[in-house]
Amino acid sequence: MIKNQIRMKSLINIFITTVFVVVLTTSLSAEYPYNENPVVLASFPKVVEKSDPLPIPSVWDGIQPQKNFMSSVFAISPEDDSAEWKANELNMANELFNKLPLPFRICTKGIRRVKEGSSPQVAGYVEMNVAPIVYITNSGASYKVFSGYLAHEMTHCFQMSHPDILSAWEKQFWTSSFFISEPKTAPVSDYGAESPKEDMAESVRLYCTHSSLLKSSFPDRYEFVKKYIMNESEFPDEKID
Ligand SMILES: [Zn+2]
Repeated sequence: MIKNQIRMKSLINIFITTVFVVVLTTSLSAEYPYNENPVVLASFPKVVEKSDPLPIPSVWDGIQPQKNFMSSVFAISPEDDSAEWKANELNMANELFNKLPLPFRICTKGIRRVKEGSSPQVAGYVEMNVAPIVYITNSGASYKVFSGYLAHEMTHCFQMSHPDILSAWEKQFWTSSFFISEPKTAPVSDYGAESPKEDMAESVRLYCTHSSLLKSSFPDRYEFVKKYIMNESEFPDEKID
């Protein structure tokens, strides 16, 4: 009987301790709500990278050496689809990958050359939430600032891997209610006004090609891209002849 009472007492003690621990854990987690504001992004990992860019193959080396270089060095696989990659296009893509920081670059796994998108104006596209692969169309590849369009599409791959950063962007630059979602300040282009996703992608396009314009006219967007998307890397303006 006494033995049973002791056993009962210790069972009650274990029960009380368990309840206490559960209550304590619950109240602790309630005190630290996850992701109430963009402050959580402060822990976005910094990656220390090589300071010297790699010597990439030239246009004159032809198509295959550039494709091999892209797959082996950047782990981005170039595929011909309904159109074929040309040497100068691959060279421009390699130049862009070479300057982009690793945390951004690794979100894109492949680039495919297609004839066209859903309309002749489409320069490129990504099938969101399907695969982190960029499709570049004939019209996209024909632009002198092709690398800007590639950077735009790569941003959509980045958004798939980092929905937290996309929602921080939306919180900072967009107002949204149940009915309306609109930019708080003018995005960098008309297309950027379509959605927070396109606003971010257009800002990254400018960051990679015309950084001085983004910095002087859209300083908040510039700082966000620099800090949370480009791992603090900054680029000079692209020369267009
Ligand atoms: Zn887009």
